[in-house]
Amino acid sequence: MNDWSRANFLDLNTFRGLGEDPVYHPPVLTDRPREWPLDQWADAPRDLGYPDFARYQWRGLRMLKDPDTQAAYHDLLWELRPRTVVELGVYSGGSLVWFRDLARLMGLDCQVIGIDKDLSRCQIPDTERTGITLREADCSQLETFEPLRGAAHPLIFIDDAHSNTFAIMKWAVGHLLEEGDYFIVEDMIPYWHRYSPALLTQYLASFRDVLAMDMVYANASSQLDRGVFRRSTTKE
Ligand code: SAM
Ligand code: MG
Repeated sequence: MNDWSRANFLDLNTFRGLGEDPVYHPPVLTDRPREWPLDQWADAPRDLGYPDFARYQWRGLRMLKDPDTQAAYHDLLWELRPRTVVELGVYSGGSLVWFRDLARLMGLDCQVIGIDKDLSRCQIPDTERTGITLREADCSQLETFEPLRGAAHPLIFIDDAHSNTFAIMKWAVGHLLEEGDYFIVEDMIPYWHRYSPALLTQYLASFRDVLAMDMVYANASSQLDRGVFRRSTTKE
């Protein structure tokens, strides 16, 4: 290891998701077949090992939500009919476009708000920004969320940035969420449960009077595993 590499180390943890390359790449099938002859149908492999996560996309934009998670959000959008979806963590922006498009298809009057501390990787074309608001801000600072106070309800608030999550949850409960609104923690609950089970259960228990886990969605996919919470009472 030389001084150059030390000086230029990046915190890889900040990339999340797929990493530094936000561009969607269609699968390249150089070493494995795409076409399979039908006279050998019975011999066709059942799993050629293409990594699915890297291939998830919406209209050519990478989307880091797996099919089970997409299906759960589909059902939640249809059930709740939200007027606002807030997502912390934009990355390439594919999920924001997907939320916007799905809401439109369902005839919802819904604004989608994406917040990320680094919007340089966002690839939503200028022509596709209707109904989507992007804000470059750091989630670790609670003042980032003040402008959300005027957002329309019902509202879904998704933490897909995983920074300061429980302080943000507390802020949302105190200042934003109305009865029936959702706060969703993607991806991290199983990891936090593995590495900090006591703190995690203690933090979640502190919300017992104001949030409840919605088991329909909290069991729907590994990315949503035990991380879907619904505001159960009105603001204090
Ligand atoms: N929501 C996207 C999707 O489903 O396709 C993926 C988001 S990606 C998993 C996480 C994003 O969180 C990254 O773009 C990263 O820049 C952002 N992020 C990480 N820490 C953050 C922070 N403290 N404040 C704001 N954004 C942050
Ligand atoms: Mg996620």
